Amino acid sequence: MKPAPFTYYCPDTLDEAVRLLHEHGDDGKILAGGQSLMPLMSLRLARPAVIVDMNRVPGLDRIAVNGDGGLSIGAMTRQRAIERDAALAERNPLLAAAVPLIGHFQIRNRGTVGGSLVHADPASELPAVSVTLGADFVLASAAGERVVSAEDFYLGYMATACEANEVLTEVRVPAWKAGRLWAIDEVARRKGDFAMAGVALWVDMDGGACADARITLFGVGGKPVRVEKAEQHLKGAALDDATLKEVERIVFEELEPDSDIHASALYRKEVGGVLTRRALGAAAARGTEAA
Ligand SMILES: Cc1cc2nc3c(=O)[nH]c(=O)nc-3n(C[C@H](O)[C@H](O)[C@H](O)COP(=O)(O)OP(=O)(O)OC[C@H]3O[C@@H](n4cnc5c(N)ncnc54)[C@H](O)[C@@H]3O)c2cc1C
Repeated sequence: MKPAPFTYYCPDTLDEAVRLLHEHGDDGKILAGGQSLMPLMSLRLARPAVIVDMNRVPGLDRIAVNGDGGLSIGAMTRQRAIERDAALAERNPLLAAAVPLIGHFQIRNRGTVGGSLVHADPASELPAVSVTLGADFVLASAAGERVVSAEDFYLGYMATACEANEVLTEVRVPAWKAGRLWAIDEVARRKGDFAMAGVALWVDMDGGACADARITLFGVGGKPVRVEKAEQHLKGAALDDATLKEVERIVFEELEPDSDIHASALYRKEVGGVLTRRALGAAAARGTEAA
């Protein structure tokens, strides 16, 4: 099918884009890489009256290192640009490892970081990774700028704090701690498919014990699911078999996924627990290799 008729704007500046969104309110929709929006429009599951194409707006595809070692990533940065940035992989290995799990390279060539974050498919990798990393999102509108944490950004099934008149312009990722252990893993029916369940996590160790940890699962709820009970259990513990098995149990207990045509709720709970245990094992192995 073809999209329903719409008016197309291709602004040259962020100010103009923001003005157009302000003018058209709920009728307007931003076009970034088009990898999610265009299929939805072609299937007429989305029928925006106005499209505001961000592809000519300069300055939104920059990856910069902040003074504190954190990253500032423009919302229009292609997913593939992250994947190909060797320096970024040094600065944030978890983010670098997440991107190749997104669809296929043709999709990542066009798909943007901001598009994935705002589209907010609960099975997407980047929303969960941004929660795990404690990222902040910068939203611009005619009223100015505001900053929302990734954790507050995701409200429910494909629902975010981004209003119809706002543009996500930048993602701020805190500096990566030296020696941090990490892993990301997922189960999908075929390579490139959306995950049926996945996990992104990091662990900071102090000697042989966990000092701090973040665990976020995706594909197991309406939005990224941070499992704070499991994080608490890890604190002060060694990453041994007993700890990992208990974390698996906690994750299983905490998850409340829905069943759908891809997998039952019980399957997702079980896979969520097992993936978390395995990912912690992989993170621990990284620590052993580095020692
Ligand atoms: C076959 C296939 C497989 C895929 N597999 C995966 C996968 O495994 N994992 C995964 O995470 N994704 C997957 N995707 C989706 C892909 O990552 C998309 O690129 C992404 O979801 C949307 O990014 P985009 O830049 O294409 O955004 P678009 O499609 O252009 O926009 C998506 C939505 O976000 C809004 N938006 C975009 N940018 C902004 C902004 N800066 N500010 C405010 N709103 C904005 C748009 O208005 C629209 O509502 C897949 C897509 C396809 C077609």
